[in-house]
Amino acid sequence: MAPTIPRHLVRNVGIVAHIDAGKTTTSERFLYYAGRSHRIGEVHDGEAILDFRADERERGITISAAATTLAWNGYQINLIDTPGHVDFTAEVERALRVLDGAVVVFDGVEGVEPQSETVWHQADRYEVPRVAFVNKMDRVGASFDGSVRSIRERLGAVGIPIQLPDGEAEAFRGIVDLVTLEYLRFEPASLGKEVVRAAIPEALRARAEACRESMLEALAERFDPLAEVWLDGSAPAPDLVHRAIREVTLRRTAVPVLCGAALRNIGIQPVLDAVGRYLPSPLDVPAVRGTVPSTGAVEQRAPEVDAPFCALLFKVVANPAADLFYLRAYSGAMESGARLLNARTGKGVRLRRMMRMHADRGEAVERLQAGDIVAAAGLADAVTGDTLCDPEHPILLETIRFPDTVVSIAVEPRTTADRDRLWELLDRFRREDPTLDFKTDPETGQSLLSGMGELHLEVVLQRMQRDFGLHVLAGKPRVSYRETVAAAARAASEYSRKIGDDQLWARVEAGIAPTVPAAAPAEFVDATARGRVPGAYLPAIRESLLNAAAGGGLYGYPVTGVLVSLHDAQFADAGQPEIALNSAASMTFRELLMRAGPIVLEPYGRLEVRVPEDCLGGAVKTLHHRRALVEDTAYHRDAVTIRGVVPIAEMFGFLTVLRSQTQGRGTFSLEPLDFRPVPENLVAQQHHRLYGD
Ligand code: GDP
Ligand code: MG
Repeated sequence: MAPTIPRHLVRNVGIVAHIDAGKTTTSERFLYYAGRSHRIGEVHDGEAILDFRADERERGITISAAATTLAWNGYQINLIDTPGHVDFTAEVERALRVLDGAVVVFDGVEGVEPQSETVWHQADRYEVPRVAFVNKMDRVGASFDGSVRSIRERLGAVGIPIQLPDGEAEAFRGIVDLVTLEYLRFEPASLGKEVVRAAIPEALRARAEACRESMLEALAERFDPLAEVWLDGSAPAPDLVHRAIREVTLRRTAVPVLCGAALRNIGIQPVLDAVGRYLPSPLDVPAVRGTVPSTGAVEQRAPEVDAPFCALLFKVVANPAADLFYLRAYSGAMESGARLLNARTGKGVRLRRMMRMHADRGEAVERLQAGDIVAAAGLADAVTGDTLCDPEHPILLETIRFPDTVVSIAVEPRTTADRDRLWELLDRFRREDPTLDFKTDPETGQSLLSGMGELHLEVVLQRMQRDFGLHVLAGKPRVSYRETVAAAARAASEYSRKIGDDQLWARVEAGIAPTVPAAAPAEFVDATARGRVPGAYLPAIRESLLNAAAGGGLYGYPVTGVLVSLHDAQFADAGQPEIALNSAASMTFRELLMRAGPIVLEPYGRLEVRVPEDCLGGAVKTLHHRRALVEDTAYHRDAVTIRGVVPIAEMFGFLTVLRSQTQGRGTFSLEPLDFRPVPENLVAQQHHRLYGD
């Protein structure tokens, strides 16, 4: 049985970065050095321990965040490995929500890349303190200074190097610790497990001392107790320097920067040390906020063990055997088997079989307390974002927000039996991944699977086939369109019908006006003269108008970015006024769209393409053909980066084209940005594309 560790020694941290920066490679070393694994699994051999799903091993990327616990210098580090691909942004989003600190890994050659930028801003939003690790210092072209500079220029953050690399690229062989002024050598014979601390070689001495001065100056500016000592001219003790680094990290006024080469087993243990020393414990983070379900009152829960219990369900993993539910406890404590309340459903639940996870294996725990992250089985109808709490003290924690889906694919089961199974599976997958959506068009009977990108959906289909033996026919990926209006308008419609002896009659007068952002859900405002429409009927009319918007406009896409105002409603008292009002409201809504002029919107993404310089012309031409708006091009030593925005619809199959144009040397990233109007001349064509095949 795993003992419980004092809270101030717990670290809930994530490793985040751009894809391929080396998160998994770094995590594998964490496990090995902390004695959690007895070998190092390499990503490129398809052997990484943390990438335990077959599709992850095959593709060499991390898809679902795997939680792992390890012990380091008395700390209990709960580590979440998150995927770098933007198609799996939900994973990163929810990891940031439950983590207290993060290690951000950069590629020493590339510096800050688009996804690290996105994740950085997400971490800012969740106020997550960070340490930076500049990895791949062994690669040709690696530059520590360059990476620190790009942290300042592209992230607007103050990076304070607390180490100095000895050499770069092929010459990279060790690290100077600027806090203690020691030289660290990672013995290759022990796969870097043995760290030798020695005196700094003469040749490096002057530079190391200069770098230490810069570090102390930057810290002193932000931490007074250090300033007092440093301005005095005395050498601050390592403990004081560590305290200064911890303070600036927790207050997020600066970010300590470390360096290394995970693949060469250099510089990993100092990152673990930094996690313990500088990142927050669950006690260092602010109380969580939530609402009391019965009253809607806002309440705070401090991370105290004797407060009422509450935990957030942040991840569900569908397994052929049994689904796994990942929980982060925020306050209080509970024993295995105790009765809890699911604050969303109002139903009681019992948590049995709680486990501290080690990649795909679990170690039983009997007690869950504030700050812990565990997996549990048997939570029947719980979904990602649910709150589990003490039934005597119900609270609904702020749920995790997810972006709208932008890409869909038509799926067709081959038999009727497969159809039922498909529904059941997609239902489970959706619980696991809230950025996945699944609908059947009532008119065409066609089933549409929607998600965050081409790769996202491809992975879902492949997993269905591989893990669950279900094969479905899939159409081509398409983007999800929306509709909005060009101008404001006003309209009124009357509905009249005789049913039996009852004369149903209603008239609804309403207005519509465009709002921003164009893809935001439609909103409603009551603009009727006071007392003119009986209050009891207002909610029904509001529902009818908003349902009409969600149900699809003149082109059949959800109507967004509009404010619908109700100006008048009249109805005959006889029969069922709601039915007549509902019909009149729907008719009025269509009339409004016609008068205001519909606009079809399509999703745009932020694009970054990196190509060798001699391929620049061809790449720009291809991008123009795909309606990309190029915003800037930046020249590097051996490549050019093109940045801009592009309709996501134009980017399907782009990777294949890019690869052939650049002999496999080009790369790109695309992340959903916003929705913009489809050019007039393309509306008919796009419309055909969606319903045509
Ligand atoms: P992730 O996508 O961030 O999880 O990155 P991975 O850990 O999967 O690494 C991506 C690729 O970079 C793999 O082929 C690794 O072997 C390689 N890699 C990771 N760390 C280093 C490093 O320190 N030096 C070099 N040269 N390659 C590395
Ligand atoms: Mg990975």
